[in-house]
Amino acid sequence: MSDEWKYPQRAGGLASALLEKLERENKPKPTAFGTPLRYSSFGECGRKVAYSVLGAPQRPASGAGLYVMQIGTILHEVIQQAINWKITQIWPHNTGVEFEVASKLTDDISGSADGIVTVELADGTKKRISLEIKTMGGVKFKQQIGFKDRPARIVEPKGPAISAIGQAGWNALGNDCEEVVVMSFALEAISVGKAIEAGLHDHDRVCAEWFIPREVWEPLADKELARQTEILRGVEEGFLPDRIALDDHGNEEARDTERHPLCLNYCDFRDQCLDDGPGIVAVPVSLTKKEQ
Ligand code: SF4
Repeated sequence: MSDEWKYPQRAGGLASALLEKLERENKPKPTAFGTPLRYSSFGECGRKVAYSVLGAPQRPASGAGLYVMQIGTILHEVIQQAINWKITQIWPHNTGVEFEVASKLTDDISGSADGIVTVELADGTKKRISLEIKTMGGVKFKQQIGFKDRPARIVEPKGPAISAIGQAGWNALGNDCEEVVVMSFALEAISVGKAIEAGLHDHDRVCAEWFIPREVWEPLADKELARQTEILRGVEEGFLPDRIALDDHGNEEARDTERHPLCLNYCDFRDQCLDDGPGIVAVPVSLTKKEQ
């Protein structure tokens, strides 16, 4: 018998059912308070932010991308339930945790916090903490915790993504929080053997958390709010911004589509972006009409 059968069937069979369902049911998500900007776009390519504001045409949704997002959504829900149970061990004087808390930072931008904890301090005052939950692939998770292979060890962790810190920071400002906690969850575990070699706890194989100092999250949040507000004002005046995003350190970085083909692969606005070309350009007439 030949080995032909070992080649998987192409897409479109039973296994595709979930992906096709997700594609069919996918709808653009409105912002929490109907604002043009959203917290989840922290650090995003400016051009992409502008297209989103203008409601530019998008490529059809990717079933594979929606599948990964769906796993993240399911994990978010079970993580939030578990946090609800654990919270009193960590903050014995908490007066409660709320999940999916919507807030509006300015008239231009809004979003929802994964969690907001309120803690009562010894002097009777209250402190609020913004919780941010992120799910990710194993490679990214290992980089964040500084896990290196051969020999297995922890060295020079990158820490959570700037976008996660900034988003948590915007949620913190929008909800009068003093503190920010970012939690990362890997979609695949570091192997048992490698974790033992690196001296990790079993839980460290899939999750990590960081208390982010205010002097880190607040300046990031303020600077990015100013950048995105400027993008919005530019759009209102009829201009699309240049293709610039924030890098891993929170610095502005040009998204040269030839040097960063990945941005093209993953961006829903790639066709519009390629049509409009690089640099600061006028909002095309097709999008102006859409705006009216
Ligand atoms: S294709 Fe790249 S440069 Fe263009 S809008 Fe999308 S992310 Fe930005």
